[in-house]
Amino acid sequence: MNEHQRHVKARENILRGETPEKRIFVHMADLEEKKKREEEVRAERERVNERMDVLKEARTPWFCPKCNKIMKQRLDDKMYKLYNHCFDCQIKFENKLRIEDKYEDWEQKRVLNNQLSYIKDQIQSVEDWKDETDSSPTIFNQVGVKDVELVQEKWSNNREAIDKMSEEALGGLNKIKEEVEEKLNSFAI
Ligand SMILES: [Zn+2]
Repeated sequence: MNEHQRHVKARENILRGETPEKRIFVHMADLEEKKKREEEVRAERERVNERMDVLKEARTPWFCPKCNKIMKQRLDDKMYKLYNHCFDCQIKFENKLRIEDKYEDWEQKRVLNNQLSYIKDQIQSVEDWKDETDSSPTIFNQVGVKDVELVQEKWSNNREAIDKMSEEALGGLNKIKEEVEEKLNSFAI
């Protein structure tokens, strides 16, 4: 048997409520720990890359892409990040909306879009949390051979609780998401 097979067998034993050989058991905890650390490093690297992408996107160009005016640091910078053009262009845009009597709709739509992206973030974080707990290696670490069954029982209870919690949270969030999307779709502009 190679290490991998041994690992698989030990896991099968645990799931069946049997006691794996202690040496393997300890070794398995090491493997889980190593896997967890690798996962953390990978996740951190991804976070850094994402942050860099955001910075790249958010860097304000010298000239407004709409009217070609040189952009000033404070006001234009802020407007560019929000609307991809300069402050003056935004003023013009909003005035036009007011004249056409569309400003209120546009403003409500903007608020709804913000809500939607917030809800999507929340859904993502619940899903991430569920995934993290899925592969949680913590139970393997402090377990003595005698405690295996007890821990297994506790573990499956946790699993159920986690599934139940995330299901409820996701259900609620998805409902809000649908409502916001429905409202958004009802706007003409
Ligand atoms: Zn402009």
